[in-house]
Amino acid sequence: MNKTKIIATLGPKSDKSKEIGRLIANGVNVFRLNMSHINDYLELKRIVETIRKTSNDLDRHVGVLMDIAGPKIRVKSDFKQLKVKKGDLLTIGSGNSDLKITLNLSFQNIKIDSRIKVDDGKISFSVNKVITKRRLEIKALNDGVIQQGKGVNFPNIKLDVPVLTKKDIKDIKAGIRLDVDWFALSFVRSKSDIKPFKKILKDNKCVKPIIAKIEKPEAVKKLDSIIESFDGVLVARGDLAVEMGYGSVPIIQKRITYLCHKYGKPVILATQMLESMIYNDTPTRAEVNDIAVAVEQGCDAVMLSAETSVGKFPIESVRIMSKVISNMEQEISNFSNFKGTNPLIAKIDTQVSMCHSASNITSELNAKLIIAMTESGSSAISMSLFRPSARIIAMSPNESVSKKLSLIWGLETEYIKDFKSTDEMILSVNKFIKENKILRKNDQFILIAGVPVGVSGTTNMIRVETIK
Ligand code: PGA
Ligand code: MN
Repeated sequence: MNKTKIIATLGPKSDKSKEIGRLIANGVNVFRLNMSHINDYLELKRIVETIRKTSNDLDRHVGVLMDIAGPKIRVKSDFKQLKVKKGDLLTIGSGNSDLKITLNLSFQNIKIDSRIKVDDGKISFSVNKVITKRRLEIKALNDGVIQQGKGVNFPNIKLDVPVLTKKDIKDIKAGIRLDVDWFALSFVRSKSDIKPFKKILKDNKCVKPIIAKIEKPEAVKKLDSIIESFDGVLVARGDLAVEMGYGSVPIIQKRITYLCHKYGKPVILATQMLESMIYNDTPTRAEVNDIAVAVEQGCDAVMLSAETSVGKFPIESVRIMSKVISNMEQEISNFSNFKGTNPLIAKIDTQVSMCHSASNITSELNAKLIIAMTESGSSAISMSLFRPSARIIAMSPNESVSKKLSLIWGLETEYIKDFKSTDEMILSVNKFIKENKILRKNDQFILIAGVPVGVSGTTNMIRVETIK
């Protein structure tokens, strides 16, 4: 069982029951629904229900991450595709511009020569003239073909775009109704972007974790406050590279991973991890190395996008990703016992301190198993922060907590019924370990829990138990 989790984006090549089952069997922990490409509620409902049913049949806790598109600007022209040659002059904006775009932008204070990039930066333009507030004249800087629906980036241009579009609001409500486990928000620019999102959840009496996708220069300037405010971070390297330039992506990735460990938040590395496998059944060495680096940096999860949604080899991509992760984790555990400790954590509360001690005890006794009894999931997340080499099994009476925890580094999840007393809890955990042959007689394991049992956020007990 790998510690680093795998997230796979679903799409036409993978969103049916048979494919979902095969993806789970090959190591997918969480499915991502990319709301940029899902427009129909009934289709969305079918996909979520298929994930739930398939994972249930396989007896696996699998998470659903709904990725809200945010104010992504796209080409909305009537043409299917448009050939451009270097030096061509086009208009962009609303009305009958050559390049109509999806948001009704108002271009204020735009500098001549600013860059505009289409289709992940494949075609670049510079601003030639501001015709009106709603329309610009732009000049092509290279040859290319622009297709309907492709993304348009305005790097370093401050645009007055909303945090959530009308479709986003509709999608969030659908996600609440379908009880997804995680939300992600695209193009986050500051910590306050979480507010309108949280308000929708609150108005619907819903509590769900929200992940910030970091893909704008504005966000990179305010990483600390964004990471503190959101429940996790996704390093969205696709748009990030277009907006910031390729050279800065590895540095930002490293910085974000560091800060996520510091603030105790999960971090996902995403985009183009096995890009060449969209068409080929084997990866490049650089891609393999990219995954290995993510594992070494201690990220919670690595993500596949087009590789599993529209690529020719979704299953093979997951298989390769899983293999690279397990090889790398094996290597790290041979040398460093993972970290065994996380010296970075900014805020030490009772729970974090208890988990730190549990992690030290585990490594000093060379115990192979930590059991984290968890009501809301937070104590198991704290345990994972110390990246112990022992297995961590998070036990919860709450199935939705287990599904949420499927995204977190190192956590295996099990259902366990509610207990009346601590003694009863310890007896049942012992029984579970023996019945499932997880440890042998006389092996030790570490148990963390909050007593009295059944109250969340009260981790205050560490036990060292021996299997009888
Ligand atoms: P996207 O986000 O796939 O929704 O664009 C990820 C990225 O930009 O890397
Ligand atoms: Mn993006």
